[in-house]
Amino acid sequence: APEQKAAPRLTPMMAQYIEIKTANPDCLLFYRMGDFYELFFEDAEAASRALGITLTKRGKHLGEDIPMCGVPVVSADDYLQKLIALGFRVAVCEQTENPAEAKKRGAKSVVRRDVVRLVTPGTLTEDRLLDAARNNYLLALHRARGGSLDGETVYGLAWIDISTGVFRVASSDEARLAADLARIDPREVVVADNLLEDEGLKGRIADSRAALSPVPRSLFDGATAADRLARYFGVATLDSFGQFSRAELTAAAGALGYVERTQFGERPPLDPPSREGDGQRMLIDPATRANLELMRTLSGERSGSLLSVIDRTVSGAGSRLLASRLASPLTDLAAIHARQAAIAHLHQDTYLRERLRGALKSVPDIARALSRLALQRGGPRDLLALAEGLTAAGDIAALFAEGAELPAELAAALADLRAAPMTLAADLARAIDDNPPLLKRDGGFVASGYLEELDEVRRLRDDSRKVIAKMQGDLCEELAIRALKIKHNNVLGWFIEVPAAHADKLTSDPARFIHRQTMAGAMRFTTPDLADLESRIANAAGRALALELETFDRLTAEVVAVGAAIKTVAAALAVLDVASALAVLAEAEDHVCPLVDDSLAFEIEGGRHPVVEEALKRSGGETFVANDANLGPGEGEESGHIWLITGPNMAGKSTFLRQNALIAILAQMGAFVPARRARIGIVDRLFSRVGAADDLARGRSTFMVEMVETAAILNQAGPRSLVILDEIGRGTSTFDGLSIAWAAIENLHEVNRSRALFATHYHELTALSARLPRLANATVRVKEWQGDVVFLHEIAPGAADRSYGIQVAKLAGLPAAVVERARQVLSQLEEQDRRAPAEALIDDLPLFAAMSPSPAPATAPAAPDPVLETLDGLDPDDLTPREALEALYALKRAR
Ligand code: ADP
Repeated sequence: APEQKAAPRLTPMMAQYIEIKTANPDCLLFYRMGDFYELFFEDAEAASRALGITLTKRGKHLGEDIPMCGVPVVSADDYLQKLIALGFRVAVCEQTENPAEAKKRGAKSVVRRDVVRLVTPGTLTEDRLLDAARNNYLLALHRARGGSLDGETVYGLAWIDISTGVFRVASSDEARLAADLARIDPREVVVADNLLEDEGLKGRIADSRAALSPVPRSLFDGATAADRLARYFGVATLDSFGQFSRAELTAAAGALGYVERTQFGERPPLDPPSREGDGQRMLIDPATRANLELMRTLSGERSGSLLSVIDRTVSGAGSRLLASRLASPLTDLAAIHARQAAIAHLHQDTYLRERLRGALKSVPDIARALSRLALQRGGPRDLLALAEGLTAAGDIAALFAEGAELPAELAAALADLRAAPMTLAADLARAIDDNPPLLKRDGGFVASGYLEELDEVRRLRDDSRKVIAKMQGDLCEELAIRALKIKHNNVLGWFIEVPAAHADKLTSDPARFIHRQTMAGAMRFTTPDLADLESRIANAAGRALALELETFDRLTAEVVAVGAAIKTVAAALAVLDVASALAVLAEAEDHVCPLVDDSLAFEIEGGRHPVVEEALKRSGGETFVANDANLGPGEGEESGHIWLITGPNMAGKSTFLRQNALIAILAQMGAFVPARRARIGIVDRLFSRVGAADDLARGRSTFMVEMVETAAILNQAGPRSLVILDEIGRGTSTFDGLSIAWAAIENLHEVNRSRALFATHYHELTALSARLPRLANATVRVKEWQGDVVFLHEIAPGAADRSYGIQVAKLAGLPAAVVERARQVLSQLEEQDRRAPAEALIDDLPLFAAMSPSPAPATAPAAPDPVLETLDGLDPDDLTPREALEALYALKRAR
């Protein structure tokens, strides 16, 4: 085109840059030039803004300056970390030949370059880019319409941590997807681009806070998925890995495909995919997970979360395992009991436990070192880490007494440690220097005494000065020239220099002394001996480095060859760390082993909230008041109980609610619990609706969020669930709120039949206990003292007699005049309100169960009634909360 002709021609380098950039449009391109990665055009502008580095320019493109910025290769990791955290993806483009090779192809040739790696949030391996205490998952999500028998949408999920090799798959569905994403907590989600047309799905992925990476549909091709997986793992069939659904296989192949794409063919040592079956985990929806502040607080920090107060692990791998257990409590009794037994053993055997912890403290992160080595991204320190880690594994195995009786989890870990590749460990320990450099290209990491030839060339290199000095001394003496010197410069290399006056002593023996240069007053010579020495010195350094790199490659290959065994050792060390850390926690914080069984019991004696307790301890003030809970079915009953908890604000209602949810989670992750005694019948799903925060980002008011969450609970909770509801209906007018709370409790009691704790400030609700047999009233006790309220934080049977709102307001520092006025207003209101509307309701309103088509045994009134007829036309399962509310109003009008 004429336009193109008019445009100034691109330099060959710019042409190459633009070609590579065009192939990687969604990434910042790190373009290697010498010791820098350079960025150009928009990339340069974005990176300089994000990193706070200077924007310069280089040459012109289409008549305009080309913006440029660069980061030094040596500190590239730090910049990468920042960019990844900000949500960028980076393509790293290296020189794949040296300039001499390029010259051979023609004077104007540019050095060949290629992208060797895409750095994305879910495919990191460098310690500096990773959080040691957290898994870094890449999750591939595949949707199969009509994948299940009843034609519903199913999702296949596959998640990989390439830094440790974890590879899991599971199935999910519309109702559970958000909960599964919240549990797995991936850093990056890979989906076929056409799926993103579904705004709902996109929103759910966005809620998970993961980076979203759309890929072409072809990566999720179901027809070839099984073959692609089998090829990666070098097996003929996947049968030995377990049974997978087609959606799961497709997701797994998609995840693998993405790894291969971003790593450009380098293969991380992945575990074969393992399937997480249904019904093995406690389901916790994202709102509950967030509200209970399991892994991080609502404001996003780790400190102040449940994880932060229970984590006593001493290694990164242990910390990751603990976090994943907490994120995913079990429902399988045998597995829970196995974890408990390991903790109990180490709880008792303090000698073993302390020695274990001492040894584990210094164990490096061998799983991550292995991954880097396998991806050709490792350095000498990774080999050292493996030497140290595997040696430590041997030492740790030796801490266990021979033939001692151990619980299965510890016995299995011990067996894995004993199977560690110790010969390799010993070889590595001999080979790698104790304090090796970061990069292999610097050399100097192979220990002396390991390779004879290396020792020799190093001696030659290091001794060269001595050898030269000796040669100089010998020549001075032989030729009797005291001023003779052996010197070095970059042009001549090593040479002999003598004053011109003595030169004839050398020129007379031209076979030995070869003339190099004549200076004013001096002459320079070399000898065959010196030339030989010189080339040996120059070669020695190169030869030493070559030998080291050879050694590095050989050892790396040996390590990768036994990668599976190394990962087994890493996993065993993590298990030991977690078991001993939870034992230490139990001892230090006075936790007990809960009895977990398949009943519907929920009996907590002296339960505590671990995070609040810790905070109180830190502040050195009050001690935490332990409280009981008992929600199990009574004699002859088949469903659990609901406790309705009233009490003034600040009394400790939310704390009590949350502590019981946390105790259930801790119990089912296999840990001990902060209580004097606990018995818990497996909880299959945990629901909570606590502390509302406006979700303004999605345009929802507090009330709307609350109702959406409440609706989810009432639609899904069952008899095995544990439900925690705090202050339902607070976001609306009193009567609205009361009515909704009222209806919700009836539904929980009659339809869901879940074990539940319900905190409320609507004292009217306590009247419900008169006719809901499995509803009990409880209150947080307070004492009045000289007109002030004193919180005892003690849960006791019964209902709070009044609200104490005004006393709390006074405590909060409301002006005295306002407090006084409020008292007057209150007493007026109370005077008018003697009719106790709620008690009237109890007598007049038909039982909720009668309105419900559920199996609840109902004693329906005999006479036909207009209200009942309206009710017959309603299907509560079909109603939105808002429609339910409107129906309720309609019913009231019909009376
Ligand atoms: P509510 O939900 O009734 O408004 P919270 O559960 O938020 O009250 O508790 C308010 C404060 O009281 C907490 O921040 C904590 O400091 C203290 N608290 C709550 N429960 C206890 C307890 N069992 N023992 C000691 N202090 C407690």
